[in-house]
Amino acid sequence: QELIKRLEQTIENIPDFPIPGIQFKDISPIFLDPKLYEDVITELAAFSKGKIDAVCGIESRGYLFGIAIAVALEVPFILIRKAGKLPPPVASEKYDLEYGSAIIETREGQIKKGQRILIHDDLLATGGTTEAAAKLVEKQGATVSQFSFLIGLKKLEGHEKLKKFNAEIYNILE
Ligand code: IMP
Repeated sequence: QELIKRLEQTIENIPDFPIPGIQFKDISPIFLDPKLYEDVITELAAFSKGKIDAVCGIESRGYLFGIAIAVALEVPFILIRKAGKLPPPVASEKYDLEYGSAIIETREGQIKKGQRILIHDDLLATGGTTEAAAKLVEKQGATVSQFSFLIGLKKLEGHEKLKKFNAEIYNILE
């Protein structure tokens, strides 16, 4: 609808960045337009209202919207960070990348057993990062109830990879 059109006019598509063949979506112009940013948060918060107990945001662009969603819904926000950034004790999850592997972490004890969690990131591509985040949440005894993204690149296998968590998935743009 109208919000989608405004976002499409604002987000920049940069060909061949960071490597040839990849079209990079730059969301930073959204933050030049506070009203647009506010409307995005309202939209994402409406999706999760009454359905979650906490928001987990994925480093680093997942923080830009995730923390505002959590504040709007008056629920806790938990940082999911790349390995080595958070002080111990941490819970961690290792996952495979196209080349090599990576580790993501949360502070231990910030996610509570039985909580219904929204995992938020700016963009879903292959789903590798989000899948690892969901595993990290579940192994701490919480439930992944929802995933939300500003952009879900549906043609990639992202949505397929997240099916097994039986959670709702929402993205404003495709
Ligand atoms: P995935 O693990 O393949 O789903 O990749 C998703 C992660 O890569 C997210 O954390 C995104 O922030 C980042 N990402 C991948 N492609 C883009 C892009 O075109 N623009 C902005 N971020 C991207």
